[in-house]
Amino acid sequence: MNSIELYKNKRVLVTGGAGFIGGTLIRKLLKSTNWNIFNLDKLGYASDLDGINQELSNLDQCANERYEFLKIDLVNSEMTNYAMKVADPDLIIHLAAESHVDRSIVSPSSFLESNVMGTFNLLQAAREHFDRLQDERKKNFRLHHVSTDEVYGSLGKNGYFSEASCYGPRSPYSASKAASDHLVNAWHSTYGLPVVITNCSNNFGPWQFLEKLIPMVITNALGGKDIPLYGDGTNVRDWLFVEDHVDALMLVATKGRLGSSYCIGGGAEKKNIEVMNIICSILDLRLKPNKSYKNLIRNVNDRPGHDYRYAIDSSLIFNELGWRPNHNFQEAIEKTVDWYLNNLEWCKKIIQK
Ligand code: NAD
Repeated sequence: MNSIELYKNKRVLVTGGAGFIGGTLIRKLLKSTNWNIFNLDKLGYASDLDGINQELSNLDQCANERYEFLKIDLVNSEMTNYAMKVADPDLIIHLAAESHVDRSIVSPSSFLESNVMGTFNLLQAAREHFDRLQDERKKNFRLHHVSTDEVYGSLGKNGYFSEASCYGPRSPYSASKAASDHLVNAWHSTYGLPVVITNCSNNFGPWQFLEKLIPMVITNALGGKDIPLYGDGTNVRDWLFVEDHVDALMLVATKGRLGSSYCIGGGAEKKNIEVMNIICSILDLRLKPNKSYKNLIRNVNDRPGHDYRYAIDSSLIFNELGWRPNHNFQEAIEKTVDWYLNNLEWCKKIIQK
């Protein structure tokens, strides 16, 4: 991206920026663009602003002046409208969502509220905002909805999800994300709202909340706790390093075809048991315990409706936008494990919270 292109979308509203992927995106935007960034987040249990605050303390005054945090819950339509007026965006990147499948099984209602009603309120506010924009800004305006490959359901041993796959969500989380994708597409067809959607595979990297698989394995191992493995551990996920996802998001947000969806995958299919063994081997090498951390892995009852396999055919984003993941799995997982080892104070803070 050249600087003129970056300057075009100079007011950006990021929702869910206090979360894992949104935070990584905002840190990258602060470093690599001159955009004004408005971070809208309700500050839920999985939120943390330490990463952004750390980045801001390393950047100059200008970067600090370009950033504003708005503590707003998208479920509140009035406050969402208010945020739209304050941010007055040229680009909206919508990541805010309840995101943990296990929690959606125990307590689905907050998933419907945030992921469905929250997206609905955002779309309504964006539509009003879009209608008010003058010609030049209207021409360049877009809303980028960040979604998941889980909306497509579960694969068998073969095949890949692509933009042409049918929707078939199987958990309350993926059903709520599928509903939000449909709303975004409907607002495009019915009201002409300029939108793009991305459906990405499982992310990992620094600053991820500790309940997700990879940080859970690292921190349980370090705490000497059992590492629970669902079922027989053969479920497969296609892992993507979060920084590669963020590069893809920036490309799609600025250059993606309006009305299109793009599937984004890491091309790194791994069984859950393989991921656990790889992490334990890295920890064994780094910390040289008496007994391998692998001894802490315990089989537990499988997750209800556990999707067997996700895998992505990323040809569309490869061919149309030239995106490629820059990290291979081994290099990225080592970087991630080392990050957690170097940030144990943050982990302790999150555990206490
Ligand atoms: P996360 O749980 O770490 O962060 C989500 C953030 O959204 C939190 O800070 C939370 O407070 C905020 N939020 C939730 N509901 C809100 C509401 N009603 N109003 C305002 N803020 C709200 O999640 P993440 O892993 O960073 O995922 C971000 C997005 O990317 C989600 O939409 C998710 O579905 C999607 N996604 C995630 C992955 C992954 O592997 N993590 C993969 C593909 C897609």
